[in-house]
Amino acid sequence: MSEGVAFQAGAIWSLFMGDYDGETKIQELLQHGDFGIGTFQGLDGELVALDSKIYQVPISGCAIDVTEAKNTVPFAVFTKFDSSIEPTEHTSDVASFEEFETAMDELLLKEYGTLNFYYFIRVDGTFPTMKVRSLCKQARPYERLSKVQKEAQVEFTYENTKGTLVITRFPGYMKTLTVPGYHVHYINDERSIGGHVLGFSMAQSAQVRTVQCKKFNLDLSQSVDFGNLATDDTSLDNDLVTIEKSRQ
Ligand SMILES: [Zn+2]
Repeated sequence: MSEGVAFQAGAIWSLFMGDYDGETKIQELLQHGDFGIGTFQGLDGELVALDSKIYQVPISGCAIDVTEAKNTVPFAVFTKFDSSIEPTEHTSDVASFEEFETAMDELLLKEYGTLNFYYFIRVDGTFPTMKVRSLCKQARPYERLSKVQKEAQVEFTYENTKGTLVITRFPGYMKTLTVPGYHVHYINDERSIGGHVLGFSMAQSAQVRTVQCKKFNLDLSQSVDFGNLATDDTSLDNDLVTIEKSRQ
């Protein structure tokens, strides 16, 4: 339980519309926080940040430490995560993503009395099953994210890994700016595998730490494409539903 500030590079709607040319350098993200998730220039894999390190998980499924690299991102959301936060132990097994969401909602309500602000959650534990995905780097001209997700998604399923879930939870009213609900990325203890989480089960005794943010700083995309995107595109609502439902 702690208070922080959320920083985000890029709005989720511009990513959905196919604006994958991020200009934000990963070192810049570290100035705003040490904990977060996102994607890389051209959708080249998943971003997982924790303990001031940034990892890239491309379609090989293997995590690469890119903390010192020159990568840029079109979308990432970060906060400063106070590692001295006292963890709460989750005492029971969790069978599914849905069960996990219910458990985390209960915990956040207990800690903060509301779900209407912005939350970052760190969960260190053992995961009997872990299904993750990564996306294949895109070339211009870019397709919309709903299409790319269907065609360029590579999935991996791991058994009995130990590692960390890096999570954001935003209220539904934020849905065009960021990912609403739970957005979960994973990296194992060896920092060798990970990705965007599609489904998992979790063993009892996981350590859960949370941060509540009442402030959300957003740097919009600086790409050439951004200024030309259609802001009144009604099919965006369908994309939101498609992408939400793609989790298994
Ligand atoms: Zn993700």
